[in-house]
Amino acid sequence: MPSETLPAASHSISEWVKSYEDGGPLRGFRCPHCGLITATWGLACPRCGTVGLEEHALSATGTVVAFTLLTVPGDEFLNDAPYVYAVVEMDGGGRITGWMPTVRTVDGVVIGERVRFRPSYRPGVQFIRESEAAPTISGA
Ligand SMILES: [Zn+2]
Repeated sequence: MPSETLPAASHSISEWVKSYEDGGPLRGFRCPHCGLITATWGLACPRCGTVGLEEHALSATGTVVAFTLLTVPGDEFLNDAPYVYAVVEMDGGGRITGWMPTVRTVDGVVIGERVRFRPSYRPGVQFIRESEAAPTISGA
């Protein structure tokens, strides 16, 4: 039986969520061997088994791959229900779950909808539909 100490995550979830509140990028991991991008920390790459995933900034945009309408939320979201809770495949890799405070009905979003990460002081990862996002200034 191996006696070595397992490595710990280089962060805590609360540290990451705090950085999201401060406007930081979504954070994930990249396998240095096969290049897999994942939003979930693990001891080893789930594809090739390489130990030592590197931190990697995820895209701020992605596509809804699954969702549900939450009508009975946790305490922090009592005043927000109902709202959509979605699984989003980020552009370039990594799947993240987050809530969509502006979508309050089950027909307000569809599988394949383009969404954008919205930094917020509110808990959790928030997404808004791209159609709701403010236009960005390009060429600056
Ligand atoms: Zn890998």
